[in-house]
Amino acid sequence: KLQLSDRVQAIKPSPTLAVTARAQELRAQGRDIIGLGAGEPDFDTPDHIKEAAIQAIRDGFTKYTPVGGTPGLKKAIVEKFRRDNGLEYEPAQILVSVGGKQSFYNLAQALLNPGDEVVIPAPYWVSYPDMVLLAGARPVIVEAGIEQDFKIRPEQLEGAITERTRLVVINSPSNPTGVMYTRAELAALGEVLRRHPHVLVATDDMYEHIQWSEEGFSNILNACPDLYERTVVLNGVSKAYAMTGWRIGYAAGPQPLIAAMTKIQSQSTSNPTSIAQVAAQAALEGDQSSIGVMLEAFKARHDFVVEALNRIPGVTCRPADGTFYCFPSVAGAIERIDGVGDDVALAEYLLNEAGVAVVPGSAFGAPGYVRLSFATSMDNLEKALARMAEALA
Ligand code: PLP
Repeated sequence: KLQLSDRVQAIKPSPTLAVTARAQELRAQGRDIIGLGAGEPDFDTPDHIKEAAIQAIRDGFTKYTPVGGTPGLKKAIVEKFRRDNGLEYEPAQILVSVGGKQSFYNLAQALLNPGDEVVIPAPYWVSYPDMVLLAGARPVIVEAGIEQDFKIRPEQLEGAITERTRLVVINSPSNPTGVMYTRAELAALGEVLRRHPHVLVATDDMYEHIQWSEEGFSNILNACPDLYERTVVLNGVSKAYAMTGWRIGYAAGPQPLIAAMTKIQSQSTSNPTSIAQVAAQAALEGDQSSIGVMLEAFKARHDFVVEALNRIPGVTCRPADGTFYCFPSVAGAIERIDGVGDDVALAEYLLNEAGVAVVPGSAFGAPGYVRLSFATSMDNLEKALARMAEALA
């Protein structure tokens, strides 16, 4: 029998990808399945970004680059932080990686020792706890349900921090809930963090541009500039520019930490793809109007989906502030439907009875909910919601 590492046996494959696979299987059998599981925009990468990459190939920009990213892209990222976030960084404080996923992976590998704790609010992006486990550390989950708008309260954060805590993760706007912390809420969390100087913060701003709140986007550094020396900002081009396949993410933070993360990357993947870096630079430096076009579509679909969900008995959906997800509670439906005991069974039921693929909330550490992605056409959404309403009636 093949003997595998304890490390790999401690984690599970990404459950969001599993739903997509199951939906594809049913489709292959000829079933009409509408997928609301997608974690990526249904828009195409804008042309000027593609053209930049094509030109890079023609120019022979097809060799190794510096491990942490090309000088051109790092400069574009420094400019982006200044323009969009009012944050100042030197190029040596930036690390470009193969997607935001690798940015967090590098962080966990560079920072965590066995026995260390990482505070992760639930519902969470599926990969945080597993990447913490891969680093040998312990995820400490803090639950925030729909009754508190899926946001952790300062006293919950205070209660979760111990002397073993190394890192707190904030993801706002959030995958899977779509909610965003206000600047005042972040200031209140920062107040707690000030009392615990041994704790670092990772702010995952991946959905920064996909939000429609009146207040606008802030991260914890906007709320608490004094946390600069212990905050890592994670971001990337995947969602804002419909570039999930190009695999470019980036991190900014204290120089010694970024240097350590770069060392990890140098012995795993080396530099991100040269031509994808050129594309990402074009995305950050070029015309930003594609973001507004996507945003308008996501907002219209969001309004439709939330309203339609709230008309279904046993389903309660809080409006989101951004992203292309919503995260309704389906507790009432689970209670009512015979043979359906939890959110996993409900997702299976929706797949079989309505031909609609959603992701069970337990994948995100929140049983009793499901995640719907509205990164699909309005036609699909109308059909899907009608079929869900019928199956859950
Ligand atoms: N962070 C969050 C909250 C996400 O939802 C995702 C993608 O789903 C990522 C990071 C990583 O994105 P990527 O690796 O495609 O850049």
